[in-house]
Amino acid sequence: MQQHPQQIFRTAGPSPLHSIEVPGGKDITLLLKREDLLYHPSAPEFCGNKWRKLKYNLYEAADLGHETLLTFGGAFSNHIAAVAAAGRLLGFRTIGLIRGEADAANNPTLAKAQDYGMELHFLTRTMYREKNDPAFRQKLTHQFGEVFILPEGGSNELALKGCEELADEIVLQSGTKLPDVVCCAAGTGGTMAGLIRGFGGKTHLMGFPALKGSFMTAAVQDFLPQADPGNWSINNDYHFGGYAKHSPQLIEFIRKFHQQHQILLDPVYTGKMLFGVFNLIEKGHFAAGSTVLAIHSGGTQGNSGMNLRMGEKLLPE
Ligand SMILES: *Cc1c(COP(=O)(O)O)cnc(C)c1O
Repeated sequence: MQQHPQQIFRTAGPSPLHSIEVPGGKDITLLLKREDLLYHPSAPEFCGNKWRKLKYNLYEAADLGHETLLTFGGAFSNHIAAVAAAGRLLGFRTIGLIRGEADAANNPTLAKAQDYGMELHFLTRTMYREKNDPAFRQKLTHQFGEVFILPEGGSNELALKGCEELADEIVLQSGTKLPDVVCCAAGTGGTMAGLIRGFGGKTHLMGFPALKGSFMTAAVQDFLPQADPGNWSINNDYHFGGYAKHSPQLIEFIRKFHQQHQILLDPVYTGKMLFGVFNLIEKGHFAAGSTVLAIHSGGTQGNSGMNLRMGEKLLPE
């Protein structure tokens, strides 16, 4: 390892808070917490909530003397991209176990991960499902030696600790008046769980799952011991059919948002969440005079891969 990760994190942030004009002249203040701007220039895929979630994991790996990070993800995963970039930045060897076929290795996300030096191995869907089994973990140690294992999406206790700091930062930046509602995208629910803990009930957190189904409440609760105070809800209305699914309406929203604000959104997480926030504002869901803060959690590294899959460069990159 070249340097302790502390040296990178110590001087970073806070990420800026931007005010966004609300359509339709509604009496709502909309703020965007620009976590997408939280990255190191030589490793821009290591950003957003992955920056927060990896922080204490990287400290731990360094403190325990690990030289290798091993993790799991899909072929377009922001987490895989972030771990590869972080590994290069900090001098860890990185190994990515990817769900699916080796022909995905040419997609922009995995090509970049390999540029950063990540070693890729492809797992069948059946094998991938076994990734948390003790026997499988033992096999990994056998094959790769001593490795620091990060779970899929990077969600663990140390990731929650990093996301608690995001809540602290929002509280500090808000001064005497906290936002009435804080909105964020959700995949595994780890970011939400950390934010819930960090806010300690001081404001309402609304999560927007990128996946179809009603499991997110249970997923978030699983991360939190009973004692954690909660003031939060899940909005399941804006998943657009499921993970990595989208619609022309969503793509159009992302294009317009980019034109208007010069801010990139991604179609998997932040685009859906902000589409939802705008739609709820339009429908009068938030009380007049409310301040709504939306967290831009990053993730735009995936846009070029999505454009390739769509066969047309519809998304800004
Ligand atoms: C990974 C990711 C999420 C989901 O975070 P979880 O902690 O898994 O819920 C949200 N937004 C972006 C941009 C991401 O990359």
